[in-house]
Amino acid sequence: MMTGLKDELHRLDVSVLIEYSVHEADKSRALAVYERFRNNPAALRLLRCYYADLPEAREEMVVDLKVAAEKQGSMLAVLQTPERAYLYLLADDQAVFLQEYAEGLTDASILSYFEFSSADDFRKKTGRDPARLPSLAGDGSDAAATCVACGVKAGEFHVLGCPVEPCPWCESQLSRCNCRFEQLGVASIEDDHQLDRFEELLEAKGRFPFSTEQNPSYPVAGDDPPPCGTEKK
Ligand SMILES: [Zn+2]
Ligand SMILES: [Zn+2]
Repeated sequence: MMTGLKDELHRLDVSVLIEYSVHEADKSRALAVYERFRNNPAALRLLRCYYADLPEAREEMVVDLKVAAEKQGSMLAVLQTPERAYLYLLADDQAVFLQEYAEGLTDASILSYFEFSSADDFRKKTGRDPARLPSLAGDGSDAAATCVACGVKAGEFHVLGCPVEPCPWCESQLSRCNCRFEQLGVASIEDDHQLDRFEELLEAKGRFPFSTEQNPSYPVAGDDPPPCGTEKK
């Protein structure tokens, strides 16, 4: 496939890609899977990458999207077709095809990022059958359930200094507003002692734990499709 055409395909709506790439008999089922995931930006990115660049042009529809591992907004996702399963890395608004799920995961840096001690450890923890892994959330709630900046889960306090944490006094960004100076009665913060004191004031006032609506909103799907990665060898 020519590079220019490929770029064009990555801009098309997933439903259009399905029209062009899936066998007639599978189309309605493929579209139903797309409908299920269309409100999850990460899932949509993965579907677009798959259908725009089918591995070895097998023209197989996607039957499910699974989660093999997650860490701080990044995910190892498994894309299942009727015959095969493919492992993708979803990170930094990109979907990167890694390898067939049956081959496991061999990239040492990706293994260690997701806290697998080895390729064997990955296989042991995720199993051979991708159908047993949890599915990606249809509405993107999985991706939104952790703070995009500091990685805490919904209901937990942000790591102090996280730019997503709202200020309990003025409700703008706590890392940016001037409330810390006003509360401490100083013009600038010079030492750790002042920071500790500010943390006490903050806790006395009551910090905002992370909730999903604090995350900056995702770019609207279709607006400016992020690039798809290619297989790493
Ligand atoms: Zn945070
Ligand atoms: Zn403030």
